[in-house]
Amino acid sequence: MQHSNTAATGSELSGSTIAPHCMIIEDEAGIRSLISRALSGHGITVSEFGDVQTAISSLAKDDPKVIFLDVSLADSDAIDAIRELAVHKFSGAVQLISGQSAGTLAEIKKIGERHGLRMCSPIAKPFTADAIYRVIAQEESLAGPALSEHPVSLRDALRKGWFELWYQPKIDLQKRTLVGAEGLARVRHPEHGLVAPKAFLTDASQSDLTELAAVGVMTALREWSIFLESGVNLKLAVNVSASVLAKLPVASLIRTYRPKDDSWPGLILELTEDEALEDIDAIKEIATQLSLYKVSLSIDDFGSGYSSLKRLRDLPFSELKLDRCFVSNCADNEQNAKICETVISLGHEFGITVTGEGIEKTADLLALRKMGCDLGQGFLFSPAVERGDLIAAARGRPRIRVPGAT
Ligand code: C2E
Ligand code: CA
Ligand code: CA
Repeated sequence: MQHSNTAATGSELSGSTIAPHCMIIEDEAGIRSLISRALSGHGITVSEFGDVQTAISSLAKDDPKVIFLDVSLADSDAIDAIRELAVHKFSGAVQLISGQSAGTLAEIKKIGERHGLRMCSPIAKPFTADAIYRVIAQEESLAGPALSEHPVSLRDALRKGWFELWYQPKIDLQKRTLVGAEGLARVRHPEHGLVAPKAFLTDASQSDLTELAAVGVMTALREWSIFLESGVNLKLAVNVSASVLAKLPVASLIRTYRPKDDSWPGLILELTEDEALEDIDAIKEIATQLSLYKVSLSIDDFGSGYSSLKRLRDLPFSELKLDRCFVSNCADNEQNAKICETVISLGHEFGITVTGEGIEKTADLLALRKMGCDLGQGFLFSPAVERGDLIAAARGRPRIRVPGAT
């Protein structure tokens, strides 16, 4: 087994963990830079080309997920590019951008499809950054796979072994390193594909939720060792509601399944508030017992519950996760900025790590970093990905870039 000398933890990353890459083929510099800015703001790396030939010669090296392709270029056009991309068996998406008529664009889209390319709905010029954001949101390779929201029985999923943990990286915002990951539940349904938590948590019974928590904890403990065998030592977290935690024989689960390796950094249980958090003494007792096994509690979605401040005072949390609704636009929205600042300094007064959730924009990342926020996660760095993809990214493949790093 490899140990932490080759592990990614603490290693300096020069950019986002799993930054997808896009290519722009456009002869107008102004339009290139508009698209490029919109993409980079979302942590996507970009290469820009004014002509088809140079772009094609970089195709294998750059491996773009999406190519933004202008229809009329100075010395060639989108149809030339389409033929070349087909020859090179390009498997990403092609996003046409043009001032041509809708009819011409539809025709060129069909030509691309006939050549076996995956063509997105064209964007008409002039366009705004919002049109680019919509492409990012829709494109699976950029925002993570679209999850099905088809209702699924949690009981079925657990019985049939359809449960998986997907991992969203946690980045140390000050040191710019990958330090951990939050495990998020997914169900791989044979008909509906990858299913979002909402679709199997909403109607689940307490006993199924308790079983889910046990399976989640065991999975994270088991998979930590698989990460380590690949040279990646990450502090993992799983989600548990307070009432489920109170019912779970969690200490004995941890004792049985915890990795015996000295380099295990422990596990975080992210607690969402519910009525069980009223029983401060019971939760304190569990927290104290868990601390014997390097397991700590984190308060999830902080700020979204009315009684959070009291919880912070009364309970031994080691981490506070600043809810996405405050992180979003904290660079421009004064109220959100104030809340983030207050929560971060409050957390620090209590000696707690503060993690910003749902960071989508470089500007918000920079603002949080300036406010002294410790850790961050969000689509800017990466959506939740399969374990193997996180290992590949942590080991420096294919692209590692922390957006906004100066
Ligand atoms: P959460 O704990 O607040 O998890 C973060 C959610 O926000 C995840 O959604 C994640 O994919 C999403 N997210 C992360 N970064 C961004 C971003 O930059 N922008 C946006 N718009 N969203 C982002 P997901 O995976 O759908 O999970 C939703 C909720 O389901 C979680 O919220 C958590 O409360 C619950 N959940 C997930 N896994 C489990 C589990 O294993 N057990 C339990 N009890 N609950 C779980
Ligand atoms: Ca969480
Ligand atoms: Ca959360």
